[in-house]
Amino acid sequence: MKRKVLLIYTGGTIGMEKDYETGSLKAFDFGNIFRKIPEMNLLECEVSVHPFSEPLDSSDVGPKEWKIIANYIGKNYEKYDGFLILHGTDTMSYTASALSFMLKNLRKPVILTGSQLPIGDLRTDAKENLLTSLYYTSLYENDEAVIQEVAVYFEYKLLRGNRTLKYSAEYFDAYQTPNYHLLGQSGVHLNVEKDFLWRPKTDEKFTVDSHISQDVLFWRIFPGMHLEHFSEIPNMKVLILQVFGSGTIFNTEKTQQTLQLLRERGTEIVVVSQCVSGGISFGKYSNSNIFTKIGAISGHDMTAESAISKAMHLLENPNYEGSFAENFNKNLCGEVTFDLEN
Ligand code: ASP
Repeated sequence: MKRKVLLIYTGGTIGMEKDYETGSLKAFDFGNIFRKIPEMNLLECEVSVHPFSEPLDSSDVGPKEWKIIANYIGKNYEKYDGFLILHGTDTMSYTASALSFMLKNLRKPVILTGSQLPIGDLRTDAKENLLTSLYYTSLYENDEAVIQEVAVYFEYKLLRGNRTLKYSAEYFDAYQTPNYHLLGQSGVHLNVEKDFLWRPKTDEKFTVDSHISQDVLFWRIFPGMHLEHFSEIPNMKVLILQVFGSGTIFNTEKTQQTLQLLRERGTEIVVVSQCVSGGISFGKYSNSNIFTKIGAISGHDMTAESAISKAMHLLENPNYEGSFAENFNKNLCGEVTFDLEN
């Protein structure tokens, strides 16, 4: 049976080609994708293409586009067996993370991919990324989708979307999930690591919850920083602090006073690590005790991208029962590991 895949093209390098007269990159007509990559006709799936009317550099993709993509998948969920999103690489991890929270109880694959070189380039990585992503997007066994989550496929690796970070602007191997296993790898065989795939924990039906709040601020601390400037920022509902190592911050009176003041004003404080691998472990060093004292929320081993979009999704979301902290402390869709402290 030929599986049906909906390919949503949002923009980014993958959809570009070189204008050999001017030497600059321009978007190519995605309606022509089958002519550009005739190998797509050999795949054992049926692909429908839905391009954005205006292809976007991914630095222009944000909450508005996340909602558009999520709702478009929602509208077409029953019609297709899988969804492939072609996206610029710069913010792909943010979009993948946001979609993982918005698409609830997903039972079909939603895979994002892009490329470092344009599809029309001789040395392009776009072709492999696109063709293998289509393979994973249409992979079913016993009439059940093998991948039932939001994933990123890039340079021979299938990765959990909300665990990814773009770590190279240079190499084809641009994405990593330092705190999670690979979900699959493409070599001579296309393999899937079944033990590490996410499965929805309930029998609840798939829904789209596209709630996103933008009253979230992210800040990386540095030695010598004047933290007290935070108290001048009005209406800061969530502050995500990216702190040192396993959760430390300079132990000064002013730090304590500022963070305490923010908490008294009702600001939620989430703590993530500046290290890309490992995560927060409150209490390991005395310079993290301030966070426990003021009731800050540990981001454990979450990526910055995932913590930001999770906070944006949960803040003042009427579809969740319980407090922001209670919900942030849950593993909603495989974005976090809780047992770092042990
Ligand atoms: N600036 C581009 C984007 O993120 C880079 C890329 O696609 O690789 O849209």
